[in-house]
Amino acid sequence: MRALRWHGKHDIRCDNVPDPQIEHPRDAIVKVTSCAICGSDLHLFDGFMPGMKHGDIMGHEFMGEVVEVGAEAKGLKAGDRVVVPFTITCGECEQCRRGNFSVCERTNRNKDAADKMFGHTTAGLFGYTHLTGGYPGGQAEYVRVPHADSTHIKVPDGLTDEQVLFLGDIFPTGWQAAVQCDIQPTDTVAIWGAGPVGQMTIRSAVLLGAKQVVVIDRVPERLEMARAAGAITINFEHESVLERLHDLTGGKGPEKCIDAVGMESHATRSIDSMYDRAKQAIMAETDRPHVLREMIYVCRPAGILSIPGVYGGLIDKIPFGASMNKGLTWRMGQTHVRRWTDDLLKRIADGQIDPSFVITHTVGLEQGPEMYKTFRDKKDGCIKVVLKP
Ligand code: NAD
Ligand code: ZN
Ligand code: ZN
Repeated sequence: MRALRWHGKHDIRCDNVPDPQIEHPRDAIVKVTSCAICGSDLHLFDGFMPGMKHGDIMGHEFMGEVVEVGAEAKGLKAGDRVVVPFTITCGECEQCRRGNFSVCERTNRNKDAADKMFGHTTAGLFGYTHLTGGYPGGQAEYVRVPHADSTHIKVPDGLTDEQVLFLGDIFPTGWQAAVQCDIQPTDTVAIWGAGPVGQMTIRSAVLLGAKQVVVIDRVPERLEMARAAGAITINFEHESVLERLHDLTGGKGPEKCIDAVGMESHATRSIDSMYDRAKQAIMAETDRPHVLREMIYVCRPAGILSIPGVYGGLIDKIPFGASMNKGLTWRMGQTHVRRWTDDLLKRIADGQIDPSFVITHTVGLEQGPEMYKTFRDKKDGCIKVVLKP
């Protein structure tokens, strides 16, 4: 089959590889009908996440048709149409039973590496480094889904791939980011990043009843898409984020701040941009925490910082004293996808939201490698890429 594979920093290729096989009775093989490139894939493409190996198959946002099931993949049969959550879940461990699916205790087959790096294991993830199990991803014609009886979302035929594909990642990610802000009708919610995750977060914050949603980015078409959902926008290259947020909240600061940017944030004006780039380049720091610093500074005391943006390792120069003394609450994590998807699927079916609005590019798998660059560089108006294997 054909699959997009990682061959090192900035080197993704569409290769011929052997078809996946059932390896365990709980497995299923899915023929991928649609998959997407996620902002998290860019951290691998740009070489900032440790734990990738040459030849790893990329991709963790995908859906398709079940073509083969193991004897214990209960509730699934050939012909079923499924979206596959990016978090692999056993459905049985204590964390899964509590709905904390992204920290499933059993699905990371490289538990020891995660234990060493993070203190505990986290869930196995598709196409996302050997720290999370080294599972081949779904930017491919076929994919093996481990623990398939628990790791799937069945979707009705009446909805298109484009409407439901993002249930596997960015839609529940934006939703969780907003839900964990505990949004009140009097709240200003400020969202850094108007990429695909930011866009889903904006719509979620609006659905959850925020008084005003303010979005920060510098890419004009992304800000335009944010305004289409009713958000107020700030272009951080042209205006002061802190001053504008101050003005928009009567000097109080936003009650809720969401980092939908993560470890590759840009800073245009401040000295910390140079400092972080230099430290990241020599691996003295893995992540650039510019957005975190801004959020801590501007958030209203007793507010909430919600962090869907991905960080991989160490950050530096975080004004923790400000955060502590202002009494801020931090909430973060990889998304507990299945905790949210029954509700979100219903909202799509009811017509409350159609997540396909975010798609700007639909291409074949062969064009995947060049699309990584287009998406990373925000060329050609690119906001979200869907690949059709
Ligand atoms: P993206 O790279 O397309 O979007 C990031 C956006 O942030 C870009 O539009 C960029 O211009 C903007 N940006 C950069 N620096 C900024 C700054 N200082 N202030 C404001 N905006 C800034 O990626 P995406 O797909 O939207 O993903 C966003 C983040 O969410 C990534 O870190 C990704 O890894 C993460 N993510 C997390 C989960 C999860 O489970 N928690 C799931 C999916 C994605
Ligand atoms: Zn993702
Ligand atoms: Zn589990």
